[in-house]
Amino acid sequence: APPTKGKPKWLRVKLPVGQKYKELRGTVDKYKLHTICTSGSCPNMGECWTEGTATFMILGNTCTRSCGFCGVKTGRPDDVDWAEPEKVARSIKLMGIKHAVITSVDRDDLKDMGSIIWQETVAAIRRMNPETTLETLIPDFQGNRRNLDRIVEANPEVVSHNMETVRRLTREVRIQAKYDQSLGVLKYLKEQGINRTKSGIMLGLGEQEDEVIQTMRDLRDHNVDVVTIGQYLQPSKKHLPVKEFIKPEQFKKYETIGLEMGFRHVESGALVRSSYKAHKHIL
Ligand code: SF4
Ligand code: SF4
Repeated sequence: APPTKGKPKWLRVKLPVGQKYKELRGTVDKYKLHTICTSGSCPNMGECWTEGTATFMILGNTCTRSCGFCGVKTGRPDDVDWAEPEKVARSIKLMGIKHAVITSVDRDDLKDMGSIIWQETVAAIRRMNPETTLETLIPDFQGNRRNLDRIVEANPEVVSHNMETVRRLTREVRIQAKYDQSLGVLKYLKEQGINRTKSGIMLGLGEQEDEVIQTMRDLRDHNVDVVTIGQYLQPSKKHLPVKEFIKPEQFKKYETIGLEMGFRHVESGALVRSSYKAHKHIL
C-alpha cells in the first residue's frame, strides 16, 4: 500500500458507493475488464462511474520511460496486441461508458511510438460506440508530427497531454520528457483543429506558487483549454517523496487564477486526477 503517514484529512479516500458503481464493478469483474480506475484504486471511482466515465490504458503495462512519480513499471514492453482496439471498444460497450478516457504507456521502442494502435483504438470505439465521447491522454510521441497526425485524424473530442510539473522540476520528475516539447505538442494539436486540448499538473513535488502560475500561463499561451491540478501522492517508497500537502484553499486559489486566465475548465483539488470530471471537458 502507498505510504499514508501524515496524510491530511482532506486526502482521505472517498468510498465508491451507489447502484451504478456496483453494476459496473460486477461487469468489470465478470468480463475481467481492465480499467485504470480499478487497477489504480482511484478514489474518484464512485463519482466517475456514476457519471459514465472510465479510463482505459492501452499498449501494455510496461513503459519504456521511468518518470519519478509514476507507478507503472519500466522495462521491455509487451508485444503489440493488434486485437487491443477491439477489446477496448468492447469493454466500453459492456460497461456502457458515455465518456471514455484512453491513455497509454510510452512506447519509444516502436517506430510509430504506438500511434497506429492509438488511431485504431479510437476508430474501433467510434464504430462500436457511436454515442460515446472520447478523451485521449497521449504521450509526447517525442514531438513527432507524423504520429501526432494520427491522433488528429482520429479526432477525439478532447486530447490531453500532461505537463505533470513545473519547468524547473521537469527533468527530475519526468526524466526523459521535455517541458517545451510538451507545450509544442499541445500547441500543434490545437492548430490542427482538435476541439479541446487539456493538460494536468501534480502539486507537492517542491514547486513554488509562482512556478505553478507560470506553468498555467504557459499552457494558456499555447492555447490549452482545460487544466487539471491535483496532489501528488507517492506510489511507493522508491518514488519521489511528497514534499508538501497542498491545502484546499491553495487549490481554490489556482482555480480562480486559472479561470481568470481564460481556461474553459479548471479542476483543482487534492483528489483531482487527470481524468476527474473528464465528461465536462468536451463542452
Ligand atoms: Fe477513473 Fe480517472 Fe475517474 Fe479515477 S479520476 S475513477 S482513474 S476516470
Ligand atoms: Fe508513467 Fe507515462 Fe512516465 Fe511511462 S511515460 S513512466 S506511463 S508517466
